[in-house]
Amino acid sequence: MSEDYKDMWKSLGLNLEAHDMLLKALGKGYQDIYMTQQNRPAGMGYFDFVMSEVHGLRIKELIDEKRAGRKVIGSFCVFVPEEIVLAADAVLVGLCTGADFAMEDVEKLLPRNTCSLIKSAFGFKLGKVCPYLESADMIVGENTCDGKKKSYETLNDLVSNLYVMDIPQMKSIKGRDLLKAEYMRFKNAVEELTGITINSARLKKGIEIVNNKRKAIHKLSILRKAEPVPLSGLDALLINQVFFYDEPIRFTESVNKVCDELEMRIRKEEGVLPKGASRILISGCPMALPNWKLPWLIETSGAVIVGEESCVGERGIKNLTDNSGNTVEELMEAIIDRYFKVNCAIFTPNQDRLKDIEEMVKTCQADGVIHYGLQFCQPYLMESISVEKALEAKNIPTLRIETDYSMEDVEQLRTRVEAFIELIK
Ligand code: SF4
Ligand code: SF4
Repeated sequence: MSEDYKDMWKSLGLNLEAHDMLLKALGKGYQDIYMTQQNRPAGMGYFDFVMSEVHGLRIKELIDEKRAGRKVIGSFCVFVPEEIVLAADAVLVGLCTGADFAMEDVEKLLPRNTCSLIKSAFGFKLGKVCPYLESADMIVGENTCDGKKKSYETLNDLVSNLYVMDIPQMKSIKGRDLLKAEYMRFKNAVEELTGITINSARLKKGIEIVNNKRKAIHKLSILRKAEPVPLSGLDALLINQVFFYDEPIRFTESVNKVCDELEMRIRKEEGVLPKGASRILISGCPMALPNWKLPWLIETSGAVIVGEESCVGERGIKNLTDNSGNTVEELMEAIIDRYFKVNCAIFTPNQDRLKDIEEMVKTCQADGVIHYGLQFCQPYLMESISVEKALEAKNIPTLRIETDYSMEDVEQLRTRVEAFIELIK
């Protein structure tokens, strides 16, 4: 445990012993999965550094921001608009939910058959191991799936600063009206928290910063489509995960540097695997930090991931927000339009998600799709069946995986993944 940060973690109320265990597990996982990869772009060094300082320097930065008067807002979902947060000079951080922790305590509060993502959020809180959660001045929960919606009622007893945002379930006029009402209410809540009134210049600036982040990832996604593939899916996933908690302008610059390097690699026909390696599209539940299990299995089985139809990936960053409006009202409408296009499985019907997957198979020239569903995630597991049927009707090989955060099923999953890759070769 770094002595430099011990006092900082203590001041946040972390359980130092439990936190040390978490950091060691995180460090070992990173070492085993990321540092054994071959032929990574030099620009990934920045992301390795971010990971080594994930609970260190970045938290120190957040605390310094708070001392300077800025507020920190934590979120669990891509429906929380960062544009509004930045417009009030606050900072948005994703709350990691990609590892099991304090499961015994969690299962005293939540049914055992709750998805790992929700359980992880509770485990981090109950185990007192997440400095992001403890730094947040406001934690935003969103009424998306039933599991999250109901668990926020319990989370409300554990934290004093939970703000719950309602989210529509249908892409209808009424659904958009609901999103609009909720985003206006959120804007007011953020203004109240920060003491800053959001004007059009502030909102435009917020939109510009977030759009630039998304543009950098769009560029990266295009470059990853080259043959041979110049960046591993694991590295792309790491970048997409860091998206949620790094300082946004520095993050954008760092992604653009990786893109410059990828352009050179493409010119030299340099890939992470030789030409002809099987190209996989992942689709389904988000893979929050440090959930790297499935991508690691795929990429150590001779295939390469070329895209992710996921909220930690394409679904989360797909569209830009129109920045041409001149009033707060016009810009808010543009924000609502942009987020209303997110095709999460909580929507019904949800044909547009299927279209997104089919489109990505084409543009990424994927040889097959691996659908990733977390155990007990009803929205994505339900959709996985119709997705598989629709893709197979178009002769797109599809493998449905249902798993959790534990490593117990690794060997069984490896056998299935290897057989699938063999099949599509
Ligand atoms: S999958 Fe749905 S609920 Fe989960 S982060 Fe994405 S939009 Fe939010
Ligand atoms: S993975 Fe599924 S069940 Fe879990 S929070 Fe996301 S949508 Fe809800």
